[in-house]
Amino acid sequence: AKESGRNNIQFFTQEMNQRLQERLQIESALRLAIEQREFLLHYQPKVDLRTGRIVGAEALIRWQHPEMGMVSPAKFISLAEESGLIVPIGKWTLHEACRQTKAWIDAGLPPLKMAVNLSARQFREPDLVQVIADTLHHSGLPAGLLEIELTEGMVMTDVNHVIKVLHELKALGLTIAIDDFGTGYSSLSYLHKFPIDVLKVDQSFVRDIQSQEDQSLIVQSVISLAHSLKLRAIAEGVETEAQLGYLRHHGCDEMQGYYFSRPLPADAFQALLASGKTL
Ligand code: C2E
Ligand code: CA
Ligand code: CA
Ligand code: CA
Repeated sequence: AKESGRNNIQFFTQEMNQRLQERLQIESALRLAIEQREFLLHYQPKVDLRTGRIVGAEALIRWQHPEMGMVSPAKFISLAEESGLIVPIGKWTLHEACRQTKAWIDAGLPPLKMAVNLSARQFREPDLVQVIADTLHHSGLPAGLLEIELTEGMVMTDVNHVIKVLHELKALGLTIAIDDFGTGYSSLSYLHKFPIDVLKVDQSFVRDIQSQEDQSLIVQSVISLAHSLKLRAIAEGVETEAQLGYLRHHGCDEMQGYYFSRPLPADAFQALLASGKTL
């Protein structure tokens, strides 16, 4: 027993060591990724449920590493957060998303609202508002066409400070969405104090619409909560016709999900937009 115990410890530390090595490897690769131009954005359409038209998109980052291949954000965003690298990466994302959206408008495509995810770390940077103002200015994108997505956790700590920052952001003319709504610990008593525009129903609730009654009740409640606060409701992770029907029935404003389109590289998204495809 003693023998195997020791082996277990050895095995354990070996595995931990390997994982640590992997993390360090990814982190040093991340450091180079911006200058090596390894990041790209994919765009997932957001569709208006009444008109069936594409009215917006969410920019989702991808990392194309020469050896590791396509690394998913689930693998590197948290590492980028911990190391602080998310700050320059996030700036790049914001610039690229605004630049691309403006280029599409200039090319004569129908204008759309571009949503960009902000990480907690980015949101705490003291120059965030200035960075976004500069980005809008440099790209020439009308502020009304930029939406930022924040999660509940980010806005529910240090509420008074957050409200002040949100007002500064709103003063630029952009809109604000709360992402993954329902998975955090929103205090409903604060929600009406935030100058926000959108609640995004988390995909975990959308997934279970047919199978689990409680979850579909949550979807319904988030939609009516959004509307009673005069906010738009967007459902994400919509994969089936049945989910779509439920969302329509309950007056959800916009949908996003594989049922309409996966996130697409810029050229494919542009082609989709130009095609005039509707839901
Ligand atoms: P998120 O912001 O909640 O983004 C939605 C995720 O759901 C995306 O995963 C998207 O590809 C996926 N998705 C969309 N429709 C469907 C569907 O119908 N079914 C299913 N199963 N999934 C769907 P992705 O692109 O892998 O991104 C994962 C997370 O990484 C994002 O979750 C976001 O938290 C983070 N992320 C992505 N890009 C950025 C970025 O530029 N900055 C920051 N800070 N975080 C990002
Ligand atoms: Ca998001
Ligand atoms: Ca989300
Ligand atoms: Ca999520």
